[in-house]
Amino acid sequence: MLDRLKEIKTTVEEKINQVTDIEALNELKVKTLGRKGDVTLFLRNLKNLSGEERARAGKTANEIKAALEQLIEEKAHEIARKEMETRLAGEKIDVTLPGLPFAHGGKHPITMVRDEIKSIFLGLGFSVAEGPEIESDYYNFEALNIPRDHPAREMQDSFYITEDILLRTHTSPVQVRTMEKLAPQLPVKIIVPGKVYRKDDDATHSPMFNQVEGLLIDENITFANLKAILMLFAQKIFGEDVRVRYRPSFFPFTEPSAEMDISCVMCGGSGCRVCSHTGWLEILGAGMVNPRVLKYGGYDPEQVTGFAFGMGIERIAMLKYGINDLRLFYDNDKRFLEQF
Ligand SMILES: [Zn+2]
Repeated sequence: MLDRLKEIKTTVEEKINQVTDIEALNELKVKTLGRKGDVTLFLRNLKNLSGEERARAGKTANEIKAALEQLIEEKAHEIARKEMETRLAGEKIDVTLPGLPFAHGGKHPITMVRDEIKSIFLGLGFSVAEGPEIESDYYNFEALNIPRDHPAREMQDSFYITEDILLRTHTSPVQVRTMEKLAPQLPVKIIVPGKVYRKDDDATHSPMFNQVEGLLIDENITFANLKAILMLFAQKIFGEDVRVRYRPSFFPFTEPSAEMDISCVMCGGSGCRVCSHTGWLEILGAGMVNPRVLKYGGYDPEQVTGFAFGMGIERIAMLKYGINDLRLFYDNDKRFLEQF
């Protein structure tokens, strides 16, 4: 009887030694120790033996059963360890390889220049005002002294949504919106950065671009104040050596009006291709707020005066960084954007 059990033990031990994968081992475990396994059946048959014999055989059988269980468990660990070793040997890790680069974002050059302009004017006591990009005809034109039949509307060929609603063509509507809110408080001292829309599209014009508007209204504001503030601005953004000049111009919402030029940042004023050999670059429009606009805003032109100015942020960025095509700002080409 016990010889038969020892036979089973020897056979199972041999098989365990030959097994190389976990599925075969599990199969062997079921066949030996499972509900209908060889060892289980043997133990069940012991009940046919007489008392003393049964006790002796039962003891031995249980020892063999325990020994086989342990053998199978050890083998399972061994197989798992070997699998891990094989996998690690296949995946050679070279710890000296450089890591994968992380793509990290940066500020867009337009944002950088806008932030710089903002910080200059915030330092001069201006605050930032904002307004809607979808604007009414009234705020975009009418209240800025550009009546319906005025030829100045032609210069700002516009995206109309209805006859009375359009995408704003400049940030100037925020002048009137702010005055309406503040009147009769003084001073009004704001800059208005924001997107504007016009029907232009070439190397120096885009259907969408960014402007910064400025407005200062108080008692006794003169053209001298305008010149002082804008001179300071030009020096801060283009350097202490920059020179400025004003040329008479026309805007319906300012009177008198002027264009401000700076000495060419490329050639210093001696003349080059960028400045068309004039030595000067046009950077912004400005002027004393038209009395009619003050009235639209709720201020008495007999009591207060003010000046306003407006510039394209793209234009400033192009001059500051020497960029010759405005469309580069919107192409989202990383090779371009990574240079800033
Ligand atoms: Zn030049």
